[in-house]
Amino acid sequence: MGRFDSISTDPPIDVFHLTELFENDGNPSKVNLGVGVFQDENGKTPTLPVVRSVEQSMAQDLTLDKNYLKSVGLDSFCQACLKLVLGEQSSSIIENRACSIQGLSGTGCLTIGLEFLYRNGYKIGYISSPTWSNHLSIMQAIGFDVKRYRYWNKEKLNLDIDGLLQDLQDAPENSVILLHACAHNPTGCDPTREQWQQISDVIKQRKLFPFFDFAYQGFSTGDLDQDAWPIRYFADHQKHELLVAQSFSKNFSLYNERVGHLTGVFSSRDIIPKFRSQLTTIIRRIYSNPPAHGAHIVATILCNPTLYSEWKNNVRTMFERIQSMRQLFYTKLKQLGTPGNWDHIITQHGMIAFTGLNPRQCQTLLQQHHIYLMSDGRINICAITQKNIDQISKSFYEVIT
Ligand code: PLP
Repeated sequence: MGRFDSISTDPPIDVFHLTELFENDGNPSKVNLGVGVFQDENGKTPTLPVVRSVEQSMAQDLTLDKNYLKSVGLDSFCQACLKLVLGEQSSSIIENRACSIQGLSGTGCLTIGLEFLYRNGYKIGYISSPTWSNHLSIMQAIGFDVKRYRYWNKEKLNLDIDGLLQDLQDAPENSVILLHACAHNPTGCDPTREQWQQISDVIKQRKLFPFFDFAYQGFSTGDLDQDAWPIRYFADHQKHELLVAQSFSKNFSLYNERVGHLTGVFSSRDIIPKFRSQLTTIIRRIYSNPPAHGAHIVATILCNPTLYSEWKNNVRTMFERIQSMRQLFYTKLKQLGTPGNWDHIITQHGMIAFTGLNPRQCQTLLQQHHIYLMSDGRINICAITQKNIDQISKSFYEVIT
């Protein structure tokens, strides 16, 4: 009898399970709309040209070694990321009230940021309903009492701003409010600037703590600064204290390098050394220090004006592909006369579209049409190509009519 004979198997992670089902499907016309990575017209997740060229010069650079980084990461990377998130003219940066830590991509930065809050007395966390599933898992594992705020209006297929504001109004003081800064996953539905102002007001009145998840900078509007607007409004205009978990998986296409950045903005510069020391302790315990390769790539690009503008063009190219596939899908559904209003396909933002299909329709797509998507109806818009669009839209038409 072994010690572990009686242990249980965890339920599969939905998105990984879907991929496994897809891989085991022998049908040559199968399509996977489930996985949330950018894909080009050939269904490939490309290495960005600017990243490729920086990696080539790094390979020749004999000054780069494999020595440990500090627990809080590479300084040049941190300084550049701070400007990318808060803007060159940020008063929080000028007044030295903003602090910056390198972390293990979006997931890692959310984890260390939430650990910091939990150990400093924040025990209640609010996530949007629906949200990216890892928000719930990470908060729960740390120990938060996790609650949900309303976000998606199922009937109108748009933001339930009244429900959202009411739920924040009812939240206990010092609750942590996890917000998607842009390109909300999975609904693709972002608050307008006016709505962000209302959200900021309630958070301030109710003494809540905003934590922004910033995984898609550039993917919502195609413009890095516009996508950062809510964070800058909260930090510099409204003087909130806040955290931001920034991921470079999507906008640098550095998925497996695990490059991320945690920003803390505080009321006074005196908090910064304490924050850094606590983050050092937290990181030391979990993974000791972050990897350097991806951080070097990002720092090199952000610190060089030519490379930076090349990267902005690369982001723009990805954004334009998302927009054109949204438009194409919308047009095809309309041409087929698919029942329902499909405007949300073109008004939502980012890579993920929330189609409004119900679980039964999703199941039929999978079983009868070999189209794989999550049961809540979310799809990765970039998995649509000129080659598979007719098959996808006809299949949607068939399961809906
Ligand atoms: N936050 C959201 C909303 C996401 O959709 C993702 C990835 O899909 C992440 C964070 C973090 O991803 P990563 O840990 O790969 O940076």
